[in-house]
Amino acid sequence: QADIAMYWAKDKGRDNAQFFTPKMASIVSKKFGFEKEINEALLLEQFHLVFQPQAFMGKENIVALEALIRWDHPTKGIISPAEFIPIAEESSLIMKIDEWVIDQALKQQKSWQDQGLALVPVAINLSGRHLVSDSLVPYISKKLKDYGIKGGLLEIEITEGVLLQDIERCIDVMAELKILNIKISVDDFGTGYSSLSYLKRLSLDTLKIDKSFVEECDLHTEDTSICEAIIHLARNLNLTVVAEGVETVSQVRVLKSLGCEIFQGYYYYKPMKNDQIVCLLAKTHSEA
Ligand code: C2E
Ligand code: MG
Ligand code: MG
Ligand code: MG
Repeated sequence: QADIAMYWAKDKGRDNAQFFTPKMASIVSKKFGFEKEINEALLLEQFHLVFQPQAFMGKENIVALEALIRWDHPTKGIISPAEFIPIAEESSLIMKIDEWVIDQALKQQKSWQDQGLALVPVAINLSGRHLVSDSLVPYISKKLKDYGIKGGLLEIEITEGVLLQDIERCIDVMAELKILNIKISVDDFGTGYSSLSYLKRLSLDTLKIDKSFVEECDLHTEDTSICEAIIHLARNLNLTVVAEGVETVSQVRVLKSLGCEIFQGYYYYKPMKNDQIVCLLAKTHSEA
């Protein structure tokens, strides 16, 4: 019981004594129930990956695929990662999920490679806790070797907040990932912290403009200026820029006029299952 009370109080900050009420008990037990279910889901293979293509200038040139996790819950249907990843991130469960995703993404790459398809890098989303752990780089390099996949065919997406938590450690891990030729993207760029000094200290490849800025970029709003600033920043730092959540031709037009060339969003492609990706890779040629 004491453990649970501590666990809850953590969210409220330090030196903040909390009384343990029945309402809290119910929230906590719901949370722990969910954690147990996530654990079972891993064992019972209820997760799968879908892949969303990133297109260079037009629909034909696929330059990367982002792997996104889905949970086929036996009674609740498909559950979005936005619902269970934050809960998994509060415990070591996220490490298991991340490792499962790395394994599945590379297994998929191997299968596409075996089918003789034109390969493009697969991007996976990693939680911060995992990035700074000692086990990440050994795990990835073992999996690359096991499946016979080049490091250049793997990309890692991390959010800004993560990069700022332990920058020294991030610098070291990223240097190790660079040796394996793995690409690194900053996800949801612009929504994290205001300090930009980390951009010059880390070996990054790509900035992904968060979809909240893309949404109204065609309406001459502040968001238009933010998109423009991010695109210029990326260009001047020699980074690739990707606009995420692009849904309309008008957004594409504006972003292209601002200098953005790579787009990920429903306007081009929704996240898709393996069989659709196979068709797509079979008929398209990559620019990468
Ligand atoms: P994210 O990495 O920023 O991924 C982009 C999200 O935007 C995905 O939602 C994608 O389906 C959605 N999206 C793409 N294009 C459009 C569009 O045109 N319009 C709209 N409205 N949405 C679009 P999803 O798959 O629900 O994932 C949500 C978040 O959950 C991801 O955001 C990522 O942070 C996290 N996530 C997803 N898969 C994983 C995973 O395997 N591991 C970890 N640690 N996190 C994951
Ligand atoms: Mg992402
Ligand atoms: Mg994103
Ligand atoms: Mg996002």
